[in-house]
Amino acid sequence: MQQRIAILVVTFLALAARAAAQSPNEFLKRGTPTFVRGTAGEDVTDKVLAAQVELLRGMLFPSAPVVDDKAIDVAKGAAAWPANPVLFGSNEHHAVLAALGARLPFQFVRGGLELAGRTFSGNDVRLIACVPEQKDEGSEKGWPEFLVYAGVGPMDAQELNGVHHGAESVLVVDRFGPLVSGSWKRDAKGRLGVVFAEPARREKWRNSNQVERGNPRSVFVKHLELVPVTEKDQEEVSAILRGAERAAQRLGLDHFEGVQVYVHPDRKSKELLTRNSGDGHADPAARTLHVLACDASEGGALEGLVAHEVTHLLTVEAVGPVASPLLGEGLAVWASGAYQGRPIGEWKQELVGKAPSVAELFLQFRKLPENVAYPLGGLFVDLCVREVGWAEFQKSLAGASPSKWGAACKSAGTSAEAIEAAWTKAFAKR
Ligand SMILES: [Zn+2]
Repeated sequence: MQQRIAILVVTFLALAARAAAQSPNEFLKRGTPTFVRGTAGEDVTDKVLAAQVELLRGMLFPSAPVVDDKAIDVAKGAAAWPANPVLFGSNEHHAVLAALGARLPFQFVRGGLELAGRTFSGNDVRLIACVPEQKDEGSEKGWPEFLVYAGVGPMDAQELNGVHHGAESVLVVDRFGPLVSGSWKRDAKGRLGVVFAEPARREKWRNSNQVERGNPRSVFVKHLELVPVTEKDQEEVSAILRGAERAAQRLGLDHFEGVQVYVHPDRKSKELLTRNSGDGHADPAARTLHVLACDASEGGALEGLVAHEVTHLLTVEAVGPVASPLLGEGLAVWASGAYQGRPIGEWKQELVGKAPSVAELFLQFRKLPENVAYPLGGLFVDLCVREVGWAEFQKSLAGASPSKWGAACKSAGTSAEAIEAAWTKAFAKR
């Protein structure tokens, strides 16, 4: 998940609104954004989008206002929009985009995305775009420049801001990562089209395991077709299934929606095919994991890596959408039971006396070294579960954003002060 901080390169030059931005990062530099969340989807989609807004807001723009899609009356034109609007949700889940309809250069329809004359099919297709302003045309009202994060599936734009999207004004993403970028152009009538760049390379993958129909916890493991089959493949399949089972058991899940695990032969190939060179990463909205082939022994690195990463795919089913990196990563470390191959109990010995307060941990999570933040996250989830029990953790605490932590603790039958005291007693600096 380390790529999720890609967007942190945004610098906070709160310059007054300038000429049209080209890329999402430039757009976010224009000034404090207003997040406009989609509320027109199924309940779970609305919750995922709301949590996604909280995640991004908490990390980068704690003072940014958040409004529902219904708050904007598009019939009143650009003047009815808030400043620097950042929309989360596809036209199937977002009332503003739905109201603009076919006037927009993109439409999510029938399980795919239609963008400037091209069709991208699949439940994993998503779009990040900085959409230029459109002037009023007669009775048709225009819109201001806006940023949009949107996806086809029920998880819509979940964790989409974590995809590298530096300089592109239009970027289509699939389960492998950035698929094709583009830039806007206008035709003679002023309508928006897209000049597409060359699409990213996509390879063929073979299925390395058989999954029975009706399996309540389906895990589909895939290896690159151009890499010859070896005995190691099946050892990797077994390690991956053990990792997924470990996480599902810890999370109390008897069944989950099918997940796909792509095993990359080496780091270079993983980076080439996904633009992410980490040992493993999860794309929850696409229910996909990408992992590097590594030690497939019982309790080994691959099993642990999958237990961690698969938790990111199972989080919504297990506890609902999370709204802070602390609880998202903490849950993954806790469910895998280990970090960097060492049980979290061992990390506890090491980190006693080095932990910041809970409030600081929420704020500083992405700024601390990963080998401090992640084990502390796992230990924090462990402490919360011990304090309030799994059911209350699941119901009240897991989805809390930093700003609602106090209220969440109250509804879990405790208080932020009580959790803080227990944390201090166990870990904090003395
Ligand atoms: Zn993670």
